[in-house]
Amino acid sequence: MKNYKTIVLSNQEISPGYYRMQILAPGYDAQARAGQFVMFRVQRSLPPLLRRPFGIFRTGFLAPDCDGMPPKEFIEIVYKVVGLGTEIMQDLHQGDQIELLGPLGRGFDLGAPDEDKILVGGGIGLVPLYMLAEKLDNKARSRLLMGGRTRDDIITVTEFERLGVETYVSTEDGSLGEEGLVTQVLERKLQKYPQATVYACGPMPMLDAVQRICANHKAPLQVSLEALMACGVGACLGCVVKGAGHSEETPRYLCTCKQGPVFNAEELDWRQLDEPQQDCGGCR
Ligand SMILES: Cc1cc2nc3c(=O)[nH]c(=O)nc-3n(C[C@H](O)[C@H](O)[C@H](O)COP(=O)(O)OP(=O)(O)OC[C@H]3O[C@@H](n4cnc5c(N)ncnc54)[C@H](O)[C@@H]3O)c2cc1C
Repeated sequence: MKNYKTIVLSNQEISPGYYRMQILAPGYDAQARAGQFVMFRVQRSLPPLLRRPFGIFRTGFLAPDCDGMPPKEFIEIVYKVVGLGTEIMQDLHQGDQIELLGPLGRGFDLGAPDEDKILVGGGIGLVPLYMLAEKLDNKARSRLLMGGRTRDDIITVTEFERLGVETYVSTEDGSLGEEGLVTQVLERKLQKYPQATVYACGPMPMLDAVQRICANHKAPLQVSLEALMACGVGACLGCVVKGAGHSEETPRYLCTCKQGPVFNAEELDWRQLDEPQQDCGGCR
């Protein structure tokens, strides 16, 4: 894990309100694992005070220059504009300086190559699933279920399809793919592939529904949580979630940034979803 100043290589809007940014990032291709994230700080202004966490979409190498130097490594992040930090990010251009801390957190366990796998992504939750799909050995036994409110939320479909992973799209308003929730597709796929391991990232209500369906089918589930996060390294405890077996008498907290963001479903106390995370907004 390193903190360093680096530069933006490109930053493009790929769907209304969604951007894909390529960042010069030496060392990441060898180090970063699917499901890990970076903490991103814009150099331009004091606010926002805190770094912002973003999943690593992919790593790679730029085409070599003709100068005999080794090819340069990059990472890509894909982000949705939701507030101050991401509003500043959308105006960044090639060559702008930023600060990157990472790669951070616990990534996905890739499992055995001969297992069926079902990846479920809701909206921006599709981001960490790309690197996961890329790293899976047996793509022919992997299916990706993409869900969003409207067609604008279904991002990077072509990239996933190019990997050779079977892809299913659903939108709540029916503007792309099947009309309805991605979880209804999951229910059907688990009936067809009852031995599958499920990997999911998306909004909490979606993860909650995915967890219930997987529990009914006794399907192993790994989830990537996008809790509110301030430091990213386990120091501030701002991103703790309740672990399985938590009670007032025996409190059990897990730090999303250090012990996650990827958890096995049985490590978590799913009742906590009834208590929305508090965002005081005061120090952001
Ligand atoms: C491990 C991890 C990986 C993430 N990966 C991605 C990613 O790949 N792409 C992406 O677009 N976003 C991702 N996020 C969420 C992203 O960090 C937030 O959207 C971002 O910090 C918002 O910053 P902001 O300054 O624009 O918004 P703020 O001004 O900080 O907040 C604007 C609004 O968004 C809400 N918000 C902020 N952070 C979160 C969050 N984590 N979850 C839910 N609501 C939030 C706030 O409560 C507030 O209502 C990830 C978060 C985590 C913890």
